[in-house]
Amino acid sequence: EKFTRADILRFVRERDIPMLNLRYVGGDGRLKTLNFAIQSAAHLERVLTMGERVDGSSLFDFVDAVSSDLYVVPQLRTAFLNPFNPIPSLDIMCGFYDVNGNPLASAPQQVLRKAQDALEDATGCRLEALGELEYYLFSAEESLFPVEPQRGYHEASPFSKWEEVRTEALYHLAQMGCSVKYAHAEVGNFVADGVQAVQQEIEFLPVDVVRAADQMALAKWVVREVAHSHGIEVSFSPKIAVGQAGSGMHFHTRLMKDGVNQFSEGAGLTDAARRVIGGYLLHAASLTAFGNTVPTSFLRLVPRQEAPTAICWGDRNRSVLVRVPLGWQNLDDRMFRDANPQEGPAGALPNDSQTVELRSPDGSANVHLLLAGVTVAARIGLTDPAMLDYANSRHVSGDASQTVELEQLPTSCAEAARRLLAQRSAYEERGVFPAGLVDAWAQKLIGLGDETLREDIAEKRVRVE
Ligand code: GLN
Ligand code: MG
Ligand code: MG
Ligand code: MG
Repeated sequence: EKFTRADILRFVRERDIPMLNLRYVGGDGRLKTLNFAIQSAAHLERVLTMGERVDGSSLFDFVDAVSSDLYVVPQLRTAFLNPFNPIPSLDIMCGFYDVNGNPLASAPQQVLRKAQDALEDATGCRLEALGELEYYLFSAEESLFPVEPQRGYHEASPFSKWEEVRTEALYHLAQMGCSVKYAHAEVGNFVADGVQAVQQEIEFLPVDVVRAADQMALAKWVVREVAHSHGIEVSFSPKIAVGQAGSGMHFHTRLMKDGVNQFSEGAGLTDAARRVIGGYLLHAASLTAFGNTVPTSFLRLVPRQEAPTAICWGDRNRSVLVRVPLGWQNLDDRMFRDANPQEGPAGALPNDSQTVELRSPDGSANVHLLLAGVTVAARIGLTDPAMLDYANSRHVSGDASQTVELEQLPTSCAEAARRLLAQRSAYEERGVFPAGLVDAWAQKLIGLGDETLREDIAEKRVRVE
């Protein structure tokens, strides 16, 4: 929700809240925190207004200022009551500023803000996104009601374990002001070496890309805290066992202009949607540098596990990289009337539900840089005249993993990095990624290597059924 400084001062006074935590996403995409004990109303007001000084060199591998000192300044609209700290605490997300008081150009959140501004300047549209967070929970206890391997999708308790972990996480996220859609048990479900692994998912509603990225950073923290409170281990790793479902972090997007979704018109997809898809496909390989940042990321991108391998798009097809899911816009209220014969007509359904889904990212993503890249790709799709034909030529209707002539996604961090370097100018255009950031990011990934892993994957691809 939207809080003002006066709201926060009043809230803290009325509830007698003794603690404040500033939170921010470092260069590595992880959520950090700085703890304050509130000494007085004046002290709180001072921190809310001035922020605090932090050591940038420890938070960023690449800082574009000579001095390593930086400021973190609270974004008061994001304030929420910490659901885990036994001492009542108020938490607030922050932005980074440099010595001159300018937003730190290489901070992931700032790169994303820039990408959104550049899109709006060029097209008058803003991108909204919703993330899907998949993860595994583990415990050594046996289940009384084991679910068959790879059959966990939407299973209910007690067949699928730990429903309370995802519902508690969902509840806390909603209380914190995040726009959550739902939570459910996912496909992955198996026992290996006496350890039970259960996959779950939390999905969000579409919001401005900056908020979508912030929410995802918060969601990983919330899921970890809730699992920890139940004595359960959690992993967002892209692949924990070959042959079992991996964990993705898909992002759905929609393009908004004056409150209207530009992706559908009547029952069909608009040219704007096709162009954005073209932009995503053109940048798909380089986007893996932000969305798939660890060697195991590439063990997930194998056929027949609902993860993408080929650079193509399709409708309602889970083997493609960019999926156009079923919307509601080609229907009137017929389903409602059938389900509820006692009700009268419900009236027209809103025409805002059509999204376009990018399925390559996983839990290792630097979410802010990824969505910045996605926003850049959307802008190029909308402004480059060649993109409509390009998109139309990459549409598939069958199983994409069986269509061999399609261009494939990278198979290692180093390959993703090389693809990123090859498209550096696209990301740096309009000053979205500041000079040096793409290189620094790519060098880090190149350090993770490729050749051994590539062979490894080739072998594992065969073994995955
Ligand atoms: N777990 C799959 C992945 O790795 C996605 C499954 C799904 O949401 N349909 O991307
Ligand atoms: Mg989902
Ligand atoms: Mg899923
Ligand atoms: Mg999905």
